[in-house]
Amino acid sequence: MEKDETAADGKTPSDTSLSTQWKAVCGLLRAEIGEAAYQSWLKPMTVREIVDGEMRISVPTRFMRDWIIAHYLDRLCELWADENPEIKSVDVYIQSERETETAPSRKKTSSGDAGSSANGGGNGGSNDYRVDISAPLDQRYTFEQFVVGKPNEFAYAAARRIAEASKVVFNPLFLYGGVGLGKTHLMQAIAWHIRERTPDRNVIYLSAEKFMYRFIRALREKNTVDFKEQFRSVDVLMIDDVQFISGKESTQEEFFHTFNSLVDQGRQIVLSADKSPSDLEGMEERLISRLNYGLVADIHATTYELRLGILHSKAEKMSVDIPQKVLEFLAHKITANVRELEGGLNRVVAHAQLVGREITLETTQDVLHDLLRANDRRVTIEEIQKRVSAHFNIRVSDMHSARRARSVARPRQVAMYLAKQLTARSLPEIGRKFGGRDHTTVMHAVKKVDELREQDSSFAEDVELLRRMLEG
Ligand code: ADP
Ligand code: MG
Repeated sequence: MEKDETAADGKTPSDTSLSTQWKAVCGLLRAEIGEAAYQSWLKPMTVREIVDGEMRISVPTRFMRDWIIAHYLDRLCELWADENPEIKSVDVYIQSERETETAPSRKKTSSGDAGSSANGGGNGGSNDYRVDISAPLDQRYTFEQFVVGKPNEFAYAAARRIAEASKVVFNPLFLYGGVGLGKTHLMQAIAWHIRERTPDRNVIYLSAEKFMYRFIRALREKNTVDFKEQFRSVDVLMIDDVQFISGKESTQEEFFHTFNSLVDQGRQIVLSADKSPSDLEGMEERLISRLNYGLVADIHATTYELRLGILHSKAEKMSVDIPQKVLEFLAHKITANVRELEGGLNRVVAHAQLVGREITLETTQDVLHDLLRANDRRVTIEEIQKRVSAHFNIRVSDMHSARRARSVARPRQVAMYLAKQLTARSLPEIGRKFGGRDHTTVMHAVKKVDELREQDSSFAEDVELLRRMLEG
C-alpha cells in the first residue's frame, strides 16, 4: 500500500533527490527563521517517507512536534510543495510513538494530537513519560497574544516573571479569577515561553481533573510509584483549575505530597483556580496555607478599555475591517468574560464572510441578538438588593447597614446568596457592595441560605421566586 519504496523500511530515505530537496527546504527556512531556531527545531527533524502525497517527518518529542506544528508547519508545507509538487501535506510525528505502537495512529497534522500513547508500552526511552503527561498547548495562548490591562496586569507580570526566571522566584504562583478571564491563557503562555527558551526543562501543564483522573487510574492499577515518579521529575508543574480537587481527599493528599516534594527540590509550581486559596471550599487547611506561601495573583473582571483592546487585537489578527463603532458596541455590551467577547466577534466576522456583506452595527445586533439579550439580562447587585428589600419589606439602606437584627440580617443574607448565584462577582466584591463586609461573611451567608432552603420549604420558595423574578 505504500507507494514510495525508498522509505518502506522506516529509515531515512536514501533517495538522494529527497534529501537534496530537504536540504533546499531547510536552507530556505533557516534563512527565514534564523540560526537559533533552526538548531532547536529543524535540525532534530528526520525526513522519513512520502505516502500518498504526504511528507512524513519524525521528531524526538511531543513538545517539538507541537511547537513545529504551531509555528512552522504551514511554511514547511509551502516550501515542500515548491520543491516537490507531489507533496500535498506534511505530517510531523513523534518517533517513539510509531516505533512502539503496533496499531498505526496516523492522523492529519492539522488535528494536533496524534492520539494518546498506550500506557503499557512505555519503554521507549527515559524521556517518554515526561512528554506523555502534559496536555497539548493551544498555540494561540502566548504572551504575545495576551492583551494587558488594569484588571490583569499583576497576574500578567507575575506570569512573565516566572516564565523568564531561571530559578524559582515565588512558589507557587497561584492565579485566580472568574471563568473566561485568561487563567488558562496565561498558564500556557508560561509553558510556551519556557519550552521555547529552554527546551530541556521539563514543563508539565495539565488540568486538575486530569491529574485526579491519572491518580485514580494509578491507584486502580496499583501503579502509584510510577505516578509519583512522573510528577516528581518535572521542573515546572502547572495545574489548571485546582478547585476541581477540592473535597476530593485522597487526590488532595497526593497533590500535597507531590507539591511539597517539588517545592523542597526547588521546582516551580503554577496553579490556577476560580477562587483564592482561602475561599476554596473543601480544601484542607495545610494545603491552603501552603498555597498561600507563594504569590497569589487575581485577575479581575474586565473593564471596557481592556475589552476594547482585546477586540482590536483579535480583529487585527483576523485581518478583517471592522468599524470602530462595532468594536465599541461589542465592548459595551458583552461584559461577562473574554471568552464570550471573542465568541461574539467570531460570529460577526463569520457571518459577514458567509453572506459576503460588510460588518455594520445593524448586522452585528442582528447576528448576536441572543448573546446580547443574555448580557442585557444579567442582573446587578443593586437590582438584587432592591428586589430583596422590597420583598421582605425592609429599606435598601439596610443592605449596607451594620444592623444585625434577624429581620434585616436574613434578607441581607438572601441578597448575598442571590448575588453569588446570579452575578459573576467574586465573594470579596460582593462583600464590598454590602457595606464593606468581609468575603467570609458572604461565604457564611451562602452556606446559611443553603441550609435554610433545605430545612424550610416556604423559605426555599421565597428564594426561588426572587431568583426567577430577577432572571426574568
Ligand atoms: P479561563 O481559563 O480564565 O477560564 P481562558 O484563559 O480560557 O480563561 O480565556 C478565555 C478566552 O479568552 C481564551 O480564548 C483567551 O485567549 C481569551 N483571553 C482571555 N484574556 C485575554 C487577554 N487579556 N488577551 C487576549 N485574549 C484573552
Ligand atoms: Mg481555564
